Amino acid sequence: MSGITIALSKGRILDETLPLLAAAGVGPSEAPEDSRQLIVPTARPDVRLVIVRASDTPTYVQYGAADLGIAGKDVLYEHGGAGLYQPLDLRIAVCRMMVAAPEGFDYAHAVHQGARLRVATKYLRAAREHFAAKGVHVDLIKLYGSMELAPLAGLADAIVDLVSTGNTLRANRLRVVEEIMPVSGRLIVNQAALKTKRAALHPLIERFEAAVAAHA
Ligand code: AMP
Repeated sequence: MSGITIALSKGRILDETLPLLAAAGVGPSEAPEDSRQLIVPTARPDVRLVIVRASDTPTYVQYGAADLGIAGKDVLYEHGGAGLYQPLDLRIAVCRMMVAAPEGFDYAHAVHQGARLRVATKYLRAAREHFAAKGVHVDLIKLYGSMELAPLAGLADAIVDLVSTGNTLRANRLRVVEEIMPVSGRLIVNQAALKTKRAALHPLIERFEAAVAAHA
């Protein structure tokens, strides 16, 4: 494929990416949210979007099926970043990865006592590294969604999840007990494509940079 392919996911990232795509001159020629099409043309005939699941974005870019992508740091951390160049923090979909526990649970005491915590999360790698660095013993339980249900249903003592406004935690009588990392959307680039398609990719990356600076 001689043109440029950009991998994006629907949802929060896409909503906040649309103004950046438009500013970079590669806005979709039809609204991806309304479309069932997974390959969406853009304002530029040589640039197309592919709509993928959020956690698959780094994989598409790693293997060169997409030259560029936009992915949350949470997803990039789990992927590991192999084959990817990460030139730009787009400062979109900003949130924090947190450890949260039920309001009544004495997390500090449990950790201090050397208790073995059960932690439910989608983010196994981030959680494993966070608790290992603290020397806390955890049994990690992999979930694919609605982490906040796990402590309420008795599946886990705590969760690792993304928190934006904190409304979801409050609604489920959970509270933040630790921060793991700040999270935002990043531009990612296939490392090989950056060399072979440099003439096409470089100006586009610069336009994203300018669009982010203009939104700051
Ligand atoms: P909030 O209630 O605003 O704190 O949002 C928390 C819920 O939205 C949780 O289910 C999170 O997994 C999800 N969430 C928050 N921020 C993001 C984000 N930037 N990207 C994807 N999911 C998010």
